[in-house]
Amino acid sequence: MKRIILTYNESCNLSCDFCYINFHHKKIKDRTYEIIKKAISLDFKVITFGGGDPFSKSSFRKSCILAKENGLFTQVDTNCLAITKSDYNFIENYVNLIGISLDGIGNTHDNMRKSNKLFSKAESVLRTLMKSNTKIKINTILTKQNKDSVYDIYRYLSELDSIYSWSIYQFFPLSVAKENQEIFEICNEDFDNALTFLNKEERKFIIEKLKYSDRVIGYVFCDEQGNIYTNSLKGDYMYICSIFDPDVAEKLSKFNELINPITINRYVE
Ligand code: SF4
Repeated sequence: MKRIILTYNESCNLSCDFCYINFHHKKIKDRTYEIIKKAISLDFKVITFGGGDPFSKSSFRKSCILAKENGLFTQVDTNCLAITKSDYNFIENYVNLIGISLDGIGNTHDNMRKSNKLFSKAESVLRTLMKSNTKIKINTILTKQNKDSVYDIYRYLSELDSIYSWSIYQFFPLSVAKENQEIFEICNEDFDNALTFLNKEERKFIIEKLKYSDRVIGYVFCDEQGNIYTNSLKGDYMYICSIFDPDVAEKLSKFNELINPITINRYVE
């Protein structure tokens, strides 16, 4: 196992209705820095910092620096809201791949994420990062609500330079996202139809279309307390162990056979 996804399960600075992280909103000890030390000793090669938004967490930047300085590939997914001017230098130096959420253009994105002016913020971050050497990945959650906006996103990205890749994820009714399944769920056929136009278009960047059946089982998450878990195709989370367990390496090696080969070595060079 080479890749681990760190999720901040305490809270996020947004409250997207399609989010599948079950935020508990309890005051807990954030052990992210120790988790990175442990991930280094366990020989993980790739760390993804995911939501709740890493830039809104005080433990994130120093933990990302530790990972990068110890040779891990660092990927960071963000909604951009908490990125400040001083972060651009940090990103250029310590983030190999930054994933920016974009579920539509203008108001469509703001409405999807329930945040006014979020699109303007994402655009400003994008345009600033394009002047650096940072690889930029765009993350789109494709749902029933924004399926007609996907062409607008494609056009928008095509006019920008320096987009490295665009990952389009089918809405996955996982955990708390099940509550809003009727609003957001998009069937395989509609997902494919919404993206058919891409077959005819020139591609200036890598495009990944990810159905949720491709995504599970396969993601190994670790929350900021060190709990390692994954998810089933039925949309439930499954606890595996703590990253601080003395026999964590053995437990993870047994788990290897369950991991989706599509995801196990993603980003490992
Ligand atoms: S920004 Fe991401 S992590 Fe935060 S609520 Fe929205 S989908 Fe969830």
